[in-house]
Amino acid sequence: MIEGLPPSGRGSLLIGGAWHPPTGHRYAPVIDPSTGKPLAEAPLATAEDARAAIEAAAAAEESWGRTPGHARGRVLREVSARIRADREVLSRLIASEVGKPIADARIEVDRAVGVYALAAEEIRQLGGESYPADAYELPAGNETRMLFTVRDPIGVVVAIGPFNFPLNLLSHKIASGLAAGNPVVAKPSSSAPFTALRLAEHLVAAGVPPGAFNLVVGPGRSVGDTLVEHPATRLVTFTGSTEMGKHIAERAGRGAKRVILEMGGLDPMVVLDDAPLDRAVPAAVRGVFGYSGQVCTASKRLLVQEGIAEKFSQALAERARALKVGPALEETTEVGPVIDGTAAARLETLVHDATRRAATVLVGGVRPAEGAGSFFPPTVLDKVPEEARVVQEEPFGPVASILRFAKLDDAIRIANATPYGLQAAVYTRDLARAFRLAQRLRVGGVHLNDPTSLRWDALPFGGVRESGLGREGLRYAMQEMTEVKLVSVNYAD
Ligand code: NAD
Repeated sequence: MIEGLPPSGRGSLLIGGAWHPPTGHRYAPVIDPSTGKPLAEAPLATAEDARAAIEAAAAAEESWGRTPGHARGRVLREVSARIRADREVLSRLIASEVGKPIADARIEVDRAVGVYALAAEEIRQLGGESYPADAYELPAGNETRMLFTVRDPIGVVVAIGPFNFPLNLLSHKIASGLAAGNPVVAKPSSSAPFTALRLAEHLVAAGVPPGAFNLVVGPGRSVGDTLVEHPATRLVTFTGSTEMGKHIAERAGRGAKRVILEMGGLDPMVVLDDAPLDRAVPAAVRGVFGYSGQVCTASKRLLVQEGIAEKFSQALAERARALKVGPALEETTEVGPVIDGTAAARLETLVHDATRRAATVLVGGVRPAEGAGSFFPPTVLDKVPEEARVVQEEPFGPVASILRFAKLDDAIRIANATPYGLQAAVYTRDLARAFRLAQRLRVGGVHLNDPTSLRWDALPFGGVRESGLGREGLRYAMQEMTEVKLVSVNYAD
């Protein structure tokens, strides 16, 4: 058995500082995508459990909000230290429950260590501004007033995470919520509950008081809707698909609640005809095949200029063929499975659709006929037409789709022709063309001569249009998780 899984074979819920079985006593197995075998059973929380978690958080709102920043920072630094000490167990849990190659899982854990430490640091920056009151004629008497703002915690934060970064993305939400003085109720993806349960143990052991952090595991629809709609919930921070993000925004909007949404993308990587192939090809390999393409900022569309397209596609196909596919826990694995059999079957359908529309398969494209686990081979598709489903819908798999273009304006038009706008990458030595693209691509971040998946946990990260609303990056999320309050002081005699 993998270390870190619940010894009883069944997980529980953390509500108000105590571990509880789900009220309905129902559980569901979590399947290891590398083997197709169950790991352990995760609780199926009910709407009643979700309500109890929000109420426990609401009860802790006052005390956690009034806990001094330096004390909140101390707890967060302790969480960081505990995660660092538990690196190998957490990495193996991630690899087992979501099929992330172990080397990548370790990187995810290292980033989470940094996220709690950064959140602790950012508490010192969570200040307001002061204003020169005497610069305003009205209201009268401003000569003897001082004006400044403070940031108050917003209240109960609901943190909903996706399956693909079960530790780091949930941690972004938990760390910023707690650092800003808010109680948090977290709900991990049902495909990845055990990493979150292990994290919850560290939060408790580090001294997060009862109720300030709660964790419920259960079905998105009943549990998720209850968490979002509860009147005590003040902010929902969500990472996941655009479809679900919009559903949450609609429900949160009815209660006038704030949302931070990190949603889907179809990130373009634009390769111009003067691009250095020795840099662009490895970046495409990382961007497309890293964690089997199950990354929001994966390079889902490779827009390659005609003059270099043949060389680029051949070089990429060669690299894709050489990738080592295998179980996530094997040290040498470069590409693991996709999350489940449904995802693998869908990828095959998307490849069929592209070839029916005259795309060419250079490598891969067909699921293995036998063997355990939900694997899909690294695939390279060339001459993919714009209307192919694989470049219209998020594939979320190890599929490189090369779209050839002639002029810079064509690249801009194709890149912007989806409802999404998460990140983009441009490879060229020509600064003038690079900046023109950086200016005209409608995305939340552009990386010139770096991969689409580049991210700094401390810096603003997010998408525009249907890719996102608000920004993460500790300081930015913490600002969204606070309310600005104006304080005026009249010191007239
Ligand atoms: P998903 O939308 O299927 O699920 C995300 C979370 O929402 C899960 O915890 C799920 O249980 C929960 N959920 C389901 N129904 C709900 C409801 N009614 N109310 C509240 N919560 C509910 O996404 P996924 O398959 O886990 O993750 C993949 C998606 O996430 C992709 O679209 C990817 O692009 C996106 N993603 C975005 C970012 C980003 O930063 N923009 C990062 C990672 C992943």
